[in-house]
Amino acid sequence: MNLIDSLRRHNESENNAFLCPDCRFAFMTKITDNDGQIVRWQCPKCNYFL
Ligand SMILES: [Zn+2]
Repeated sequence: MNLIDSLRRHNESENNAFLCPDCRFAFMTKITDNDGQIVRWQCPKCNYFL
């Protein structure tokens, strides 16, 4: 399992809320494409993304 898969699993069980691993200040935001697939996670504070 890679990090992205692990985050997806986390999202399914914890409903979207996990802190940015970089700044640990804001919650990561799920970025999805038109099909609703998660394409990446982005921090609204520092713009760090996975
Ligand atoms: Zn951040």
